[in-house]
Amino acid sequence: MQPLPIFELRRVTVRYGALTALQDVSLRIEAGERVALIGPSGAGKSTLLGVLNGSIAPTSGEVRLLGQNPARLSARALRHVQRQIGTIYQQFNLVPNLSVIHNVNAGHLGRWSLAKAVLSLVVPLEREAAVRALENVGIADKLYERTANLSGGQQQRVAIARVLVQNPVAILADEPISSVDPERSREIMTLLRALCDRFDKTLVVSLHALEYAYSHCDRIVGLREGRVQFDLPTDQVTPAMMEALYRIRA
Ligand code: ADP
Repeated sequence: MQPLPIFELRRVTVRYGALTALQDVSLRIEAGERVALIGPSGAGKSTLLGVLNGSIAPTSGEVRLLGQNPARLSARALRHVQRQIGTIYQQFNLVPNLSVIHNVNAGHLGRWSLAKAVLSLVVPLEREAAVRALENVGIADKLYERTANLSGGQQQRVAIARVLVQNPVAILADEPISSVDPERSREIMTLLRALCDRFDKTLVVSLHALEYAYSHCDRIVGLREGRVQFDLPTDQVTPAMMEALYRIRA
């Protein structure tokens, strides 16, 4: 039997009022793939990632996340699926006033009871798991540092450590290097890719910097005005396709 795809979209359209953010998008992503989403600002990349993590419901079309239809799940069952899909954001989505260990431990929250989560704000729990995750992203020495004191690149490492603690099946990253110094971008992308390889995670990453789509991903999905313009193995994407994707409409 063929293994189930991690993500499957059939003719998915997402509208915000009169605005169509995604139009007729069909996509199948298998376990272990490293997929880049590219396209100009407003093309629908964040919306697509929102559909893939179950936070945005399609206006029409069908979605399967880990084989499940989110529209048919109870809130509890949907949360269970969502725990297996970790998301990293451009703006990190960390709590700046908390120490690094608390932000990393937030990766447990989907699994912890409310009592344990509240207690963890007083006594950081699961120190070992947090240390291990921070070692994997190269900043174990920052465990008790106030998160706001870290650089952009270090904060993104904290966000990656949080996702490692969550231990999802797939990692979605929404422009993970847009708020990071250009010199640090390659390090973050290389780290993300290496961790997905090492821990066997499927990766879908939206990127502004096309060079990293070529260098760090095996498949590129080009979006423009909410539609998939191409969906190809990286080595089949030509400069002409890229140019057409970003061409300004006359
Ligand atoms: P990208 O990530 O490629 O920049 P987005 O998915 O953020 O694209 O946006 C696609 C389109 O949907 C844009 O025109 C954007 O302005 C619009 N949009 C995104 N989110 C919302 C929202 N919550 N409400 C209304 N319009 C939105």
